[in-house]
Amino acid sequence: MLIDIHVHTTVRAGPLRPNGETYATPEQLMAMHDARGIRLGVILPGGAPECAHHNLSQDECLDVVARHPGRFVPFCNPDPRMLTNSPEANFTPMLEYFKGQGCKGVGEVCANLPFDDPRVLNFLAHCEACGLPVTFHLATQIGATYGLFDELGLPRLEAALKRLPKLIFLGHSQPFWAEISGDVTEAARGGYPKGPVTESGRVVELMRSCPNLCGDLSAGSGHNAVSRDPAFGHRFLEEFQDRLFFGTDICAPTNQTPLVEFLRSAVEGGHISREAYEKIGWRNAERLLGL
Ligand SMILES: [Zn+2]
Repeated sequence: MLIDIHVHTTVRAGPLRPNGETYATPEQLMAMHDARGIRLGVILPGGAPECAHHNLSQDECLDVVARHPGRFVPFCNPDPRMLTNSPEANFTPMLEYFKGQGCKGVGEVCANLPFDDPRVLNFLAHCEACGLPVTFHLATQIGATYGLFDELGLPRLEAALKRLPKLIFLGHSQPFWAEISGDVTEAARGGYPKGPVTESGRVVELMRSCPNLCGDLSAGSGHNAVSRDPAFGHRFLEEFQDRLFFGTDICAPTNQTPLVEFLRSAVEGGHISREAYEKIGWRNAERLLGL
């Protein structure tokens, strides 16, 4: 019954990446979902060139969704530099158009710009005005990576959360989830820090102080955040059960999805409530996507 808040696909597998993988086609993706008890996936189409090995265009994304009724929900993914590469660009007509086409959110935002770049803040303000949630990839630096840049401690994200209180932010990626622990370092924040979670993690603090911040638990980063210190992870899932979303970030047919098993054993072992499991697994997504 799970809903996957974060997947990628391309119509054809496309060229090999340096690691020898390709994207999963929609058919491969559905087979992976079937094998894991996932009934629906949110497709995040291609956006910024910084992270593109192959591309799923916005129109192809809508076509994939239409070809497989009941299996996918589309997001739209305009880049903050589109239209006029200006902080005055009016994204509302474009976003309203995609809403009319069935898109339920925006992302994954992968532009490698500062989180407080005027073009990013303008774009996010239009997303807020249109009532569309935004999934973002956070980056540790400018250059040689992708995603919105913020420093250790996430000051730029915090300012954006406060500036745009009605915008639902879905946080994702290694430097976002590394901040679940108060002892994260500059050297470790781009990876998958292990060991006990200490007090004053910025993600915990920001989720407590900013009701518009949600957590996208997809990928190795989301799984690592809740599993590195299981007792903490279970408490975190319980505390924020209304704002956490199950996801996989499947990009390739070989991807692993350990979060499926982690959440199942957490509920079956009595470490989290069934209510929290169902909310994180699918009910929060049903509410966010208007299903
Ligand atoms: Zn992704």
